[in-house]
Amino acid sequence: MPLPETLRTTPFIGARSDSAGARVVLFGCPFDGTVSFRPGARFGPAAIRAVSDVLETYCPVLRRDLEDVAYADMGDLPLPPGDTAAALNLTHRMAAQVLSTGQMPAALGGEHLLTLPLVRAASEVFKDLVVVQFDAHFDMRNQYLGVELSHATVMRRIGELLPPSRILQVGQRSGTREDFEKTEFRERYSPQGRSAADIQRWVGDRPLYVTVDLDVLDPSVVPGIGTPEPGGVDFATLQTWLAGLAGCRWVGWDVMELSPHHDPTQISSVVAAKIVRTMILASTVVGDESVRALKQ
Ligand code: MN
Ligand code: MN
Repeated sequence: MPLPETLRTTPFIGARSDSAGARVVLFGCPFDGTVSFRPGARFGPAAIRAVSDVLETYCPVLRRDLEDVAYADMGDLPLPPGDTAAALNLTHRMAAQVLSTGQMPAALGGEHLLTLPLVRAASEVFKDLVVVQFDAHFDMRNQYLGVELSHATVMRRIGELLPPSRILQVGQRSGTREDFEKTEFRERYSPQGRSAADIQRWVGDRPLYVTVDLDVLDPSVVPGIGTPEPGGVDFATLQTWLAGLAGCRWVGWDVMELSPHHDPTQISSVVAAKIVRTMILASTVVGDESVRALKQ
């Protein structure tokens, strides 16, 4: 089965446009139909690519270079605005197709609800999948404005696919009393956050899906998001968390919720692009002892 048709755009820095032979297959999910506060995440994928050339391909934190990794950028899925079911279906089809060839789907959002079909596809292949969610919010509502499929409910829905013990929530600082006191699968936010080593230990050797809702970062770092929440972590902390997962068994990942028009400086887009670079590099380390040593 070929990959679904996509809308071709200028690729992410250094990416090939053919998925053959790629370890990581990037694709954009330009959809923001359920965004609750301020929409605009549909423009995220294009903005990430547009600024990606400002980055160097070398990451001094991971001591790895994009030039040493085979990754493709397939452009954007043609997700119809206003049709949530169609957006979810097409996103699932893309991820499932990429996984069926042993490759790693990597989505550029787009709103966080799209993580649901991405995780679903991964969980259909990897029965012991674990999910790490970096997010200011729990996204654990059962409904939002009467809707069960929303970026505010996405982790609740994912929690219906996987046992709670296989989901780790990191960075939450906004939610209901119930979210903070009763949710089974989360780590409470603390000023220091969790250590990278803690997160890596929790993941262990299990197949790993990582979802980054960019609002886990402080809004002073990424003002260009839909639901800014003061009190977040700085860039270095998030990068350390992600780099700490290098060497784990990544099977899929996403970077969600960039809303570029809310930041005319474009710095939010650069932050998102740099997170994408970190994740391309961190997700493709296999048995690399030098990187493992680096993390200690
Ligand atoms: Mn969030
Ligand atoms: Mn979220």
